[in-house]
Amino acid sequence: MMIVNDMYEKMGISPETVKKGRQICEDLKERFDRIDQVAEYNQLKVLNAFRECKVSEACLYGTTGYGYNDIGRDTLEEVYAQIFNTQAALVRPQITCGTHALALALMSNLRPGDELLSPVGKPYDTLEEVIGIRESKGSLKEYGIFYRQVDLLTDSSFDYDKIKEAINEKTKIVTIQRSKGYQTRKTFSVKEIGELIAFVKNIKSDVICMVDNCYGEFVETIEPSDVGADMVVGSLIKNPGGGLAPIGGYIAGRKDCIENAAYRLTSPGLGKEVGASLGVLKDFYQGLFLAPTVVASALKTSIFAANLFEKEGFKVVPDSTESRHDIIQAITLGSEERVCAFCEGIQSAAPVDSFVTPEPWDMPGYDAKVIMAAGAFVSGSSIELSADGPIKPPFAVYFQGGLTWPHGKTGILKAYQTMADRGLL
Ligand SMILES: *Cc1c(COP(=O)(O)O)cnc(C)c1O
Repeated sequence: MMIVNDMYEKMGISPETVKKGRQICEDLKERFDRIDQVAEYNQLKVLNAFRECKVSEACLYGTTGYGYNDIGRDTLEEVYAQIFNTQAALVRPQITCGTHALALALMSNLRPGDELLSPVGKPYDTLEEVIGIRESKGSLKEYGIFYRQVDLLTDSSFDYDKIKEAINEKTKIVTIQRSKGYQTRKTFSVKEIGELIAFVKNIKSDVICMVDNCYGEFVETIEPSDVGADMVVGSLIKNPGGGLAPIGGYIAGRKDCIENAAYRLTSPGLGKEVGASLGVLKDFYQGLFLAPTVVASALKTSIFAANLFEKEGFKVVPDSTESRHDIIQAITLGSEERVCAFCEGIQSAAPVDSFVTPEPWDMPGYDAKVIMAAGAFVSGSSIELSADGPIKPPFAVYFQGGLTWPHGKTGILKAYQTMADRGLL
């Protein structure tokens, strides 16, 4: 104990803060046990997929040029399909991020005149431009694809009556965002998503149900594709990349949907056959292998922070006890000084760029200044411990990630300490 206290002291974290943290961990033992059980289940799910798909050493080396017969790439896609319990998957470094993966899944499976429906309210910010909710070049709207939205009821439940009204003969895809992202609604459990999909399919059986799975992978033992989703879509610099994937996105789902996506990503006629994997396959495989325990670390970090800051009287979403369906945590800190101190603390506990001081800046696309803390191995990676806070009321910080639980815990303690040192608690 003494020795670890010394190490915390080197980080500028006081014995009192360490003690507070220790008490909270004591109280969270049972909860952390359950998280470890989910990680154990998911680790076996991933391992079995590797075994059944016969991942070999040769799979770890990439191809160049056209990338014909890239055994590593093709096997990895089988592994993803196995894990997500789908017929096929597209997992590529050529899919540049989560937004790109979502745009690809939509644009490749919708045709002019079709309708897209979001029965869960407004989608993630970047999707607004993909759909054309905000005017944008190349949007679905420009291609004559219509969009309908049914907002959630005030208690975040589905408005089944309005959803029923909104589904019509043109409805081709229903898009469901699992994580709340940076909104105030709750994150849906996989079970709830399954109920919504069943409701939609009961009205129109041939609708394609797509789930934006960002931040949700491996948080539960089942994924939306286990409960009827035709496509699940996500980013490899979030959960399934395990912190090692340096780029990439995935779409797992029905064979015909994945084929459409592949022909759109490369070219009609070429589809999945081309697309060199270059040197990223080892990191894709190893990151996926680590992902279940990395996600468990991120979850523990979020829950620890919720408990620590709730005790200090701050509003935390999700709160200290509620069940988790993604890795994002929000804390309403109430002032610019607190938001900055929190982010500075997270930054100074980062393995990379610990010595820099983050400052609020006018980020493109935002209506207020934003401060961000990110000292990551992979630029912008949000499975690594990272935080950001818009400088406007109610002065909330949003954070997520933590590749290891001891690091996540240290980052949160350092954020807390920085606030304490400035008399902000
Ligand atoms: C991160 C995220 C996206 C977009 O992913 P990027 O990789 O940032 O483009 C979409 N939806 C949700 C819910 C997300 O969390």
